[in-house]
Amino acid sequence: MEKKVTRIGVLTSGGDAPGMNAAIRAVVRTGIYHGLEVFGIMRGYQGLIDDDIFRMEGRSVANIIQRGGTILKTARCKEFYEPAGRKIGYDNLKKRGINGLVIIGGDGSFRGAVNFSKEFDIPCVGLAGTIDKDISGTDFTIGFDTAVNTAVEAIDKVRDTMDAHDRIFIIEVMGRDAGYIALHSGIATGAENILIPERKTDINSIIASLQEKERRKKMVNLIVVAEGDEFGGANEVQRVLQDKLPKAEIRVCILGHIQRGGAPSCMDRLIASRMGYHAVESLLEGRHNVFVGIQNNRMNYIPLETAVKNKGKISDEWMKIVKILAS
Ligand code: ADP
Repeated sequence: MEKKVTRIGVLTSGGDAPGMNAAIRAVVRTGIYHGLEVFGIMRGYQGLIDDDIFRMEGRSVANIIQRGGTILKTARCKEFYEPAGRKIGYDNLKKRGINGLVIIGGDGSFRGAVNFSKEFDIPCVGLAGTIDKDISGTDFTIGFDTAVNTAVEAIDKVRDTMDAHDRIFIIEVMGRDAGYIALHSGIATGAENILIPERKTDINSIIASLQEKERRKKMVNLIVVAEGDEFGGANEVQRVLQDKLPKAEIRVCILGHIQRGGAPSCMDRLIASRMGYHAVESLLEGRHNVFVGIQNNRMNYIPLETAVKNKGKISDEWMKIVKILAS
């Protein structure tokens, strides 16, 4: 018989994402609603190992739903990759009687949770907190909607100047392994080309279309590139294009970390609240070592282990839409 969950810990780990605070709030308040004792763990797995753990009350999460970042802070923690580090973390939970853990983070944090839950009898539930949306089994990850809206707002502004000056703009957005921010922000801003790690970049066809535009004296073109595109980032794309189009004014704009911060969108607050609530329900109902996703507007509970192995996939239909709408 599984032990009843009575005390839970919550942590945020890996890259921060807007909406993590809304998720923490939901976990804490749902836990308290069910009569659980809730503990916050600072700086992800680092705080677990450093014993930086404190009791949280309902009011500990007052006035945070609208704030970006994470009140629990986040970190990358080398020691947690090692069994010895994880054992220290376990001992710190054990001595407080914490017997359930909610991990808000990306696929790396889930990998950590998989190893931890295999070694120790503390059930874990994950919440996908990542702006990259690169976890399959869920239509949403906490932070993606805000990041993509930030990118859209910035690209719209760049587009104004691009249009005024007849320039080619290459805008780099975040996404080391995943092209969702590039795809969604590119479609939403009418980009002519969207370069993503999931597809091979056909630079020659981009060059050919720009040369054709040059002949027609219409040198306005928006290219959105994910930082992890296999061809290279925005600077590399510019170097190659400028070489073939020496007269064109080609500018680069790298959006960078502005995409991570800021107040979470309404959508991110909603999904974080819903997922946080269901994370606690899952722990209580014995659905352990899963992460809580939402698919087709229903909760989806995916074993952390498979979440780790599967990366989200970008459909060919999306790529077709990009091509048709940009022509
Ligand atoms: P994200 O969760 O955003 O993908 P990382 O990949 O940096 O971010 O992972 C966050 C943390 O999760 C790491 O710093 C480490 O402490 C832990 N972690 C990641 N992979 C593993 C693993 N294979 N085993 C144990 N811990 C891991």
